Amino acid sequence: MLSSPLQQYLNKSGYTSFHPQAVLFDMDGVLYDSMPYHVQAWSETAIHHALKHTPEDFYLFEGRTGEGTIQELFQRTFKRNATPEECEAIYKEKAERFNSYNQGATMKGAAEVLAKVKAYDLQTLVVTGSGQHSLIDKLNHDFPGYFVREKMVTAYDVKRGKPDPEPYLMGLEKAGVKANEALVVENAPMGVQAAVAAGIFTIAVNTGPLPDSVLWDAGANLLFHDMTELEMNWESIMHALLS
Ligand code: CA
Repeated sequence: MLSSPLQQYLNKSGYTSFHPQAVLFDMDGVLYDSMPYHVQAWSETAIHHALKHTPEDFYLFEGRTGEGTIQELFQRTFKRNATPEECEAIYKEKAERFNSYNQGATMKGAAEVLAKVKAYDLQTLVVTGSGQHSLIDKLNHDFPGYFVREKMVTAYDVKRGKPDPEPYLMGLEKAGVKANEALVVENAPMGVQAAVAAGIFTIAVNTGPLPDSVLWDAGANLLFHDMTELEMNWESIMHALLS
C-alpha cells in the first residue's frame, strides 16, 4: 500500500532515497481542534464588514496569513486592496473573536501520534502561521517534552505564509535536516501545497469538512481522516519508508 506513495515522492522530488529524521507538524487542525473557532471568528468578522464569503472559504484559505485572507475578501467584494489600517483593525477583531470562542482543546489522537514519532527517535517540530506569543508555553503544557522554542516556526519567523514553501523550508533549517529527511503532517490544502513545494513527503490529515480530493490535488503523498487513524498506521508508514 505504501511503496507507491514513496516512489511517487521520489519521482516528483528528484531524490533517490528517503531517510526520515524529523516530523514537522502543522498546529491548527492537526495538534489542536481549533479550526471551527477560526472559521466562526472569520465568518462573523466578514459579515460585520459585509465581505463576500462562505464558511468553506476559510478552510480553503487556512494557512495563509491574516492579511492574505483579508486582501482576498476585499478584492472579491470591493475590487480593491484593504489599507494597512483596515487590515490591522479587521485582523484584530477576528483574533478577539477567536480568543473568546477557542476552548484550547487538543486534537484527539495527537498526543498518541507524537509518542509514536518519538519512539522512532524522530525530532518533532511545529510549523504554524499562528502568532500567539504564549504558544510555546501552551504546547509545553499540552504536549510536554516534544517542542522547544528554537525549533518552532511561527508567524514571527516568516515573511510569506503558506502556500509559499518558506515556513517549511525554515522548519527544515531549524531541524538541521534536508527535505528528504523529513515528513510533514498537515490538514489544510495550502499547507500541503507549501510542504510539497518545499520538497517534503507530506501526510494530509483531513480533519475538516473539505473533500479528500482537495488535499490529494494539493499534492499530499498520503491521507488519513484523523490523527487516530494516522497513529494506527504509523508503524506501517515507518516500515515502508525506512525499509
Ligand atoms: Ca492547519
